[in-house]
Amino acid sequence: MVKLALLGATGSIGTSTLAVLREQSAHFTLSLVSAHTDWQSLLRIAEEFKVKTLVLTGITYPRQQEELRRQLPRHRILYGGDGLLEALREGDYDVALNAVSGSAGLQASFAIAQRGKRLALANKESLVMAGHLLIPLIKETGAKLIPVDSEHSALFQCIGDRPESEIRKVHITASGGAFRDLPLDRFADITPQQALKHPNWNMGAKVTLDSATMFNKALEVMEAHWLFGLPYAKIGALLHPQSVVHSLVEFVDGSFLAQLSAPDMKLPILCALSHPRRLPSQLVQTDLTRLGDLTFGALDPRRYPLFYLGLEVAREGGLLPTALNAANEAALQLFLSGRIAFTDIHRLCAEALEDFANIPSPSLEEIISANRAVFEAVTSRHN
Ligand code: NDP
Ligand code: MG
Repeated sequence: MVKLALLGATGSIGTSTLAVLREQSAHFTLSLVSAHTDWQSLLRIAEEFKVKTLVLTGITYPRQQEELRRQLPRHRILYGGDGLLEALREGDYDVALNAVSGSAGLQASFAIAQRGKRLALANKESLVMAGHLLIPLIKETGAKLIPVDSEHSALFQCIGDRPESEIRKVHITASGGAFRDLPLDRFADITPQQALKHPNWNMGAKVTLDSATMFNKALEVMEAHWLFGLPYAKIGALLHPQSVVHSLVEFVDGSFLAQLSAPDMKLPILCALSHPRRLPSQLVQTDLTRLGDLTFGALDPRRYPLFYLGLEVAREGGLLPTALNAANEAALQLFLSGRIAFTDIHRLCAEALEDFANIPSPSLEEIISANRAVFEAVTSRHN
């Protein structure tokens, strides 16, 4: 029986993971779950899966904490970001799936890697912000890193044990997000409600918005760079509106390998949890005869300027990816609360980088502090 710690259990990836666990209950048990503020859902999860340790990172009022302790006297409940790190440092688990959204997931990845555990990583921001520290730490402690992001799961499955020298290029596919067909002159009027609707995937708010701006694909290029040790010249992105081919590897001899399946995160989650085995599952069914045409195209720089800004920042490296990601997180909140237009997201991000002093190889403390500083600067300038 594999013991799983599930961070972000109440979110979109968390919910898909629970569906996988229901089907695969002969192989996995849940020993630790976390959420930010949604304590009702977390309690339901804890009861259904008989989880002993719960973490609520966003419940900070002592009276509410006391009330929850009264409701669950036999459970261990920890609070705050520090509570999550404590649970990860001391808890009993074999694999941790980090599905916290955004930069808030960074330190948890380090706590898991420090324990030498298997890290099933959905939180791409951990690698974007600190890949240069996380990858060496994983090597040092003997931890294992398995991607959950669908594109990276596809690449992971296709690359297998092949060395970088045999790879000509990897092609990360992109659905195009909510506005892939919207005329460019209507971008300024996009509402949060429209941006929160993804054509193919049902995901959390942040990654759905990042798909609409295509910033998500820039994050994924950086994620691939660290996961597979590939230079940026060997990582490309392709528009693929059907989201059936999850990514492709082009080898030096001109041959391509791709991974295909219906767009459903349960499959990459199962792959990450069961690796290196494959377990029988009925959760995701793909009928090739009903898929229709599969098409591929280039990403239009006018439609997706944030993707191209992200690529520039990726090549610069250092603290810049953290700064851009923080500016984007702040801009998304401003957009969702109606303070800025959709087209301002890119503008605010570009402005935040203008006078930013980069550091080539920042420490974790420098990353955490720059993340906070840029987020606050962008937020306060527009409040
Ligand atoms: P959701 O927004 O649906 O869920 C986020 C989860 O994290 C919730 O459990 C939430 O708790 C918790 N959370 C929110 N804020 C914090 C915080 N500050 N500290 C700790 N926990 C927090 O996100 P997704 O499931 O969509 O995405 C999770 C991660 O996976 C992201 O990094 C995303 O990029 C990545 N990913 C997601 C995909 C998808 O299909 N959804 C696909 C590929 C990658 P609460 O419910 O209490 O707020
Ligand atoms: Mg993805």
